[in-house]
Amino acid sequence: MKKLDELTFDNRFARLGDAFSTEVLPDPIADPRLVVASPAAMSLLDLDPSEADTPLFTEIFSGHKLWDTAQPRAMVYSGHQFGSYNPRLGDGRGLLLGEVLNDAGEHWDLHLKGAGLTPYSRMGDGRAVLRSSIREFLASEYLCALGIPTSRALCVTGSSTTVWRETKETGAMLLRLAPSHVRFGHFEYFYYTKQQEQLETLAQFVLREYFPQCLADEKPYLALFREVVERNAEMIALWQAYGFCHGVMNTDNMSILGITFDYGPYAFLDDFDANHICNHSDDTGRYSFSNQVPIAHWNLAALGQALTPFVAVDDLRATLDLFLPLYQAHYLSLMRRRLGFATAQDGDLELVQRLLQAMQKGAVDYSLFFRRLGEQAPEQALAVLRDDFVDLAAFDAWATEYRARAASEDDSQDARRIRMHAVNPLYVLRNYLAQEAITAAEQGDYSVVRRLHEVLSRPFEEQAGAEAFTRRPPDWGRHLEISCSS
Ligand code: AMP
Ligand code: MG
Repeated sequence: MKKLDELTFDNRFARLGDAFSTEVLPDPIADPRLVVASPAAMSLLDLDPSEADTPLFTEIFSGHKLWDTAQPRAMVYSGHQFGSYNPRLGDGRGLLLGEVLNDAGEHWDLHLKGAGLTPYSRMGDGRAVLRSSIREFLASEYLCALGIPTSRALCVTGSSTTVWRETKETGAMLLRLAPSHVRFGHFEYFYYTKQQEQLETLAQFVLREYFPQCLADEKPYLALFREVVERNAEMIALWQAYGFCHGVMNTDNMSILGITFDYGPYAFLDDFDANHICNHSDDTGRYSFSNQVPIAHWNLAALGQALTPFVAVDDLRATLDLFLPLYQAHYLSLMRRRLGFATAQDGDLELVQRLLQAMQKGAVDYSLFFRRLGEQAPEQALAVLRDDFVDLAAFDAWATEYRARAASEDDSQDARRIRMHAVNPLYVLRNYLAQEAITAAEQGDYSVVRRLHEVLSRPFEEQAGAEAFTRRPPDWGRHLEISCSS
């Protein structure tokens, strides 16, 4: 275990030079204080968890101090936002501080979000607010605990610095970890500005550092695209299976590594609603829950476009066509597990679809449904769950089929429960829980967010004294409108 000043930096992205990023120093926030830290994320850097309690930790992650060997840079990228191309985005309020090389030989980007103005800030103030920093922190660590590929969060630092959004708020910084911060939008930037040499340098960098297995391929750039398509198919299947709505699937928020990235007004579904729109600013529902699948495909097509200087269009098209079948296969396999099936049988997809249709009409809590389904034998579990459905005829027809399907699995209820509970979380990062933690933190009480983070770090395991975290949302928390401003 290391102390903070014992970290080793190896800043590979910075070495790509000024065409890719600009040197900028963090602009500190006032009266910094640690809001919450993730011991699990600290371990990725081999950091001793007690380092979070040192003054140096808070000084570094509020922009007051920096390692000599860090090389803070703002990255340039562009991207499609809500379907329209925005030629110049970039790190407007975050900096890549550098890349830590851990003892296992892994590189971890340290990205400080809310670090002040950069050449890419446009009309913004370069800041992040406490509210959105807490939301990103909780989501990063919760998705990881669920087994969904994601960027990680080391800590949130609060301050007394005033930041104006719709109203007066306080500034904060989030330290994000990811093996890379390269987005689809990085490729689009060099493609649309016709900087072919830089585009090639970027693609070579990504191949060499993150997808070395593709270099042996006859067509390495096509192999890279295929990897990204495959990883996205898996990630989106996990989102859909677990009821996660990202909310802002712009191509600048899509990681080249196929990890969930750049959390904004996200939500986990409470009551199941295929058409749920979690982003208050998404008037047309472009990023609604069920649209996440076609939008991922659209985003991959945008990435493919940026690779056309290197790969034949027909090859890109054929690879893009793999997305939907791959997605469907992952999704079906996840949903089988959530329903308690260890085997694959014909008709399973229809069974899933009919369940969702029946849920859509009622007030059925999406996450708790699966947890409760595993709690007791099918007969008893279904009798209890029935109460939440409105279309009882649809539910009864489904329940009859489910009972027969579950009986064909031929195992004990104990084995079934253990298997189902291992994939169906009891604790869910609900918007109302995040909101309670934010409200307390805004008044200087960080105990609520710390406790919520602790409970959510073991979502599948029933924890003594954590009953309150299993509740469905109270009325005020049912339809929280999550602002896109962050
Ligand atoms: P986001 O909505 O966080 O994905 O950000 C989209 C783009 O706007 C990125 O280029 C951000 O760096 C930039 N941005 C968002 N908020 C701010 C802000 N407060 N100040 C400067 N740039 C910002
Ligand atoms: Mg973004």
